[in-house]
Amino acid sequence: VVGSGVAGLTAAVRCASLDKGKLRVGVMTKCDLAESATRWAQGGIAAVLAGSGSPEDSTDLHMADTLAAGAGLCNQDAVRVLVDEGPARVLDLIAWGAQFDRQESGALSLAREGGHSRPRVVHAGGVATGLEVERALVDAVSRLAVAIFERHFALDLIVEEGECRGVMALDPEGLAIEVRASNVVLATGGAGQLFSVTTNPHQATGDGIAMAMRAGVPVADVEFMQFHPTALHHPGMPRPLLSEALRGHGALLRDRDGSRFVDELSPRDVVSRAMFETMARQEVDHLWLDATGLEDFATRFPTIAKELGAIGLDPACDWLPIAPAAHYLSGGVVTDLDGASALAGLWACGEAACSGVHGANRLASNSLLEGLVFGARVAEAIGARKRGPSESGLFAEMAAGRFRPVEPATRVHRRTVDVSGDPVKARETLQAALTADAGVLRSEDSLARAAEVVEEVAAKIELPVEKVEAAELRNLVDCARALVASASARKESRGAHARADFPLCDPTWEVRLVHAWDATPWEVLR
Ligand SMILES: Cc1cc2nc3c(=O)[nH]c(=O)nc-3n(C[C@H](O)[C@H](O)[C@H](O)COP(=O)(O)OP(=O)(O)OC[C@H]3O[C@@H](n4cnc5c(N)ncnc54)[C@H](O)[C@@H]3O)c2cc1C
Repeated sequence: VVGSGVAGLTAAVRCASLDKGKLRVGVMTKCDLAESATRWAQGGIAAVLAGSGSPEDSTDLHMADTLAAGAGLCNQDAVRVLVDEGPARVLDLIAWGAQFDRQESGALSLAREGGHSRPRVVHAGGVATGLEVERALVDAVSRLAVAIFERHFALDLIVEEGECRGVMALDPEGLAIEVRASNVVLATGGAGQLFSVTTNPHQATGDGIAMAMRAGVPVADVEFMQFHPTALHHPGMPRPLLSEALRGHGALLRDRDGSRFVDELSPRDVVSRAMFETMARQEVDHLWLDATGLEDFATRFPTIAKELGAIGLDPACDWLPIAPAAHYLSGGVVTDLDGASALAGLWACGEAACSGVHGANRLASNSLLEGLVFGARVAEAIGARKRGPSESGLFAEMAAGRFRPVEPATRVHRRTVDVSGDPVKARETLQAALTADAGVLRSEDSLARAAEVVEEVAAKIELPVEKVEAAELRNLVDCARALVASASARKESRGAHARADFPLCDPTWEVRLVHAWDATPWEVLR
């Protein structure tokens, strides 16, 4: 298993529990075991838990909310699996030791977030849910016979005779090693680091997605980068997130002049776009979140209160400066309902995967859930000795022809990144270009500008990938190419993808855009 966030650790824990431990499981992660985007997750996990939620809530409503946010591109079968199996996976997590916030009666305390028609979001420590999920999973994995490879960087997939047989990696000393495995699970998370303003940690560089593309494994929906509307406008990076839960509890959005300009409980894309447009019109680089009306802020949101206190902001009397930040990549490695990719022996789950549950836009608090549900399904399928995808989930869509292939302008398989300079500067250049021209609002001209910079970065840098910074840069360049190509190809606005030159949603674009850089697996799919 590559990755130690919610998806990877869930897959590892379940694999190790199967067959009375007969499956030999290892987790490789490029940082320390407990480091991941997961641990930064705040608001919680959405699931319809019998006995705890509002009596009128149902998995059908959760599904309807998810489909509405996904703007016509969710895979209905995948969403059904997500909402139906989610509650049991949350209970598993509780059984493994996760402590969620409870009411005095002992029932789980549930929050309502943007896009949800009912309160159904379980949370821990107010808005420190990810930390608790990660802690519980790290504890669970440590109790099992799982080999842990910390500070090992997965570079590329080993593909032999049409199967994935392991990964090439850098060990902590920077030596290239081969790690052989009969199954490889990519749980490497998202790619928020494509942008200079992001809530994602430094390691979210799209590694698994880029590795898959280089091996010719189809990747889809990468134009749908969700921007979180309420990241604190502050020089620190990653930008601290002012959770959706604040708006759920009544915090208001205010423009330069103090006026409200959007329904605070609208889905993220709607709020982000309204903010981007308001900021452009009023020529400011941030707006305001007014949480002064919230009672007991410090008790309900201790983590946020602490972060704000550290920079001298008091939410009881100060409006909080905010701006949209890259937050969640809906796309990733195309999978069936068990997390199988097109390549036998290669699986993907969590943010690195495109299972189809998020469509064009993820509903708040559905991503930890996706990691729990599909991490478990991957493990079950590996335990059942499944090889290769079945015609379910996105592969059923593929069979029905609801895919369109996209080719990035450059399709060169580079063993080295071609950058003769400083990888840190190159990364910043790439991030600035994508933020300015391939972010919240895009157009043909802006995307052409972004593509030019991406190619410039790719062409100028010459470093061996046997260094983590260079390998990450290569992955960012590959993901940037795919994102820009898909965003240019999609001539409409839908979900998290907004085009100034094609502002309307166009039903003829209700298709998924797929990258497959090598003919082989793509041909297999057809
Ligand atoms: C600030 C913030 C708040 C959020 N709040 C919520 C929320 O309230 N609810 C919700 O549902 N979602 C939330 N999300 C989204 C959610 O946290 C993530 O989508 C989810 O945790 C992703 O889990 P994952 O297991 O797929 O990947 P991650 O948690 O990102 O883990 C990826 C792992 O892969 C490792 N890795 C990556 N590349 C390599 C490589 N080349 N070699 C080896 N290891 C590698 C990383 O080190 C890491 O361990 C939030 C995200 C952020 C950033």
